[in-house]
Amino acid sequence: MKGHTAVITGGGRGIGKAIGESLAGRGVNIVVVDVNLDIARETASGMERLGVKSLPLKADVSNSSDVSGIIDSAVKEFGKIEILVNNAGITRDGLLLRMKEEDWDAVINVNLKGTFLCSKEAVKVMAKQRYGRIINIASIVAFMGNPGQANYSASKAGIVGLTKTIAKEYAGRGITANAVAPGFITTAMTDALSDTVRQEMLKSIPMNKFGTVEDVAASVAFFASPDAGYVTGQVMHVNGGMYM
Ligand code: NAD
Repeated sequence: MKGHTAVITGGGRGIGKAIGESLAGRGVNIVVVDVNLDIARETASGMERLGVKSLPLKADVSNSSDVSGIIDSAVKEFGKIEILVNNAGITRDGLLLRMKEEDWDAVINVNLKGTFLCSKEAVKVMAKQRYGRIINIASIVAFMGNPGQANYSASKAGIVGLTKTIAKEYAGRGITANAVAPGFITTAMTDALSDTVRQEMLKSIPMNKFGTVEDVAASVAFFASPDAGYVTGQVMHVNGGMYM
């Protein structure tokens, strides 16, 4: 993977940042795409300290002109894109009967439409190269559902269907598409939960611990590598046994 270029959406913090660090550690140049340019810049500086080139770019993945802009900028800077990680994601939780239409639209637009738009633009570049690795970040709730997350679980289930379709459409062009479905991962979000809630959640995880951002990044790095060349349309579950 040394010298490859990866575009990582939502790469400024959390799981996206850990994915960038993992790939940078393998010599991959990183395009850090985030709606928040300050954190994209800070994270890109961190990647450069790992000895690779890194380009921070501001974009809202649900906006088609932003997306074509970042893919153009990435190609201008590095000449090629081998890896796309569709990681940008948001939640706007609420029970179905209380869920506002704008909360449904916001989550579907960022999580699902964003994955569609970025994949479409990247595939144009990857098809010409006859090589590409697309890795989409889904979620355990795509498979289990979750009260309060009708919009989010639908967006993540949509990502699984989209991943399999891209895999079938572009297998002949040397492009693989796979998804990683994390369970409960320790991030700012899970840190904020009370001890009681955390204990309740842990009861449903056979390994009795939350995952780390590095656990997710390791699976992404496998799918992104040439070693995974015969693996496409698959979902890797990273959840401590919570769903199998
Ligand atoms: P996070 O909120 O810490 O990071 C998400 C990043 O995406 C942020 O830097 C944010 O600025 C960026 N972003 C948000 N909207 C964007 C947009 N429209 N365009 C571009 N960038 C945007 O979240 P995280 O916990 O690191 O989650 C990363 C991914 O993993 C998400 O897709 C999430 O759904 C998924 N996931 C997380 C968990 C978990 O337990 N944390 C579990 C399953 C799946």
